[in-house]
Amino acid sequence: MSQFISLSSGSSGNCYYLQVDDYGLIIDQGLSVRKFKQICSNYGLSIAKIKAILVTHDHTDHVKGVGALSRDFRIPVYTSQAVHDSIMRNHFVSKKVPLNLQHAIERGIEFELGPFKITSFAVPHDSADNNGYKIRWDDKCFVLLTDVGHFSDDMPDIIHQATHLVIESNYDEHMLVTGRYPLRLQKRISGPNGHISNAETAVFLANNLNRDLIKKVWLCHLSAENNVPRIAYETCAEKLIEAGYILNGENRNVSLEVLARQTPSLLTDL
Ligand SMILES: [Zn+2]
Ligand SMILES: [Zn+2]
Repeated sequence: MSQFISLSSGSSGNCYYLQVDDYGLIIDQGLSVRKFKQICSNYGLSIAKIKAILVTHDHTDHVKGVGALSRDFRIPVYTSQAVHDSIMRNHFVSKKVPLNLQHAIERGIEFELGPFKITSFAVPHDSADNNGYKIRWDDKCFVLLTDVGHFSDDMPDIIHQATHLVIESNYDEHMLVTGRYPLRLQKRISGPNGHISNAETAVFLANNLNRDLIKKVWLCHLSAENNVPRIAYETCAEKLIEAGYILNGENRNVSLEVLARQTPSLLTDL
């Protein structure tokens, strides 16, 4: 049996949990350990089952609690060497990942952790480095792609393999340009190494999902300032429906959900 839950998604902390049988895998840990433990206990997740932590990139909202979780529970951390090095230099990460628990992964080379076969791919963003992950087990292919400056040429093929997909839908373009962010920050967010908009994600999904495979899409990392869940959902739903997907009712062929910023999602069987 496999399950997924988002513990938190957005600039105040990102943390996702995937479990197959008794093997738990955390992707990013941007929460304080106190908050992390509290959510685990509320949702009946056993920290003893967490066997590994994968990290996308070194921004604090993805790594704030990674060192503490790794050190306190002796859990190995897997990411690219550039991300490991940058976490070590990040002053907001007070507890560091012990050196003997740091494992460097090579981009594009599949490796195994318990039941999972994992491949990382490059995601453009203004961090030291940023990894998307394709995680396969049984007949499942779970893809996580967050903090996306722009969609690169190798992403359509990866998305096309997904049965389950977590993908960023950061901002609504109108809200960003009419909101209160200064122009410089607006440009950083919408630039090629910032974040991805609802409209860009919607078109990308409609063009590249594989309708014979895809079962579930979660929109993640919504901006608190420049997005609202309803707009993110409707922007994406409109493009998927235009492309022939059915999101509701008996004939539903894909399920679309928006991940909340502060509250965990439902624990979902995959
Ligand atoms: Zn982020
Ligand atoms: Zn980031």
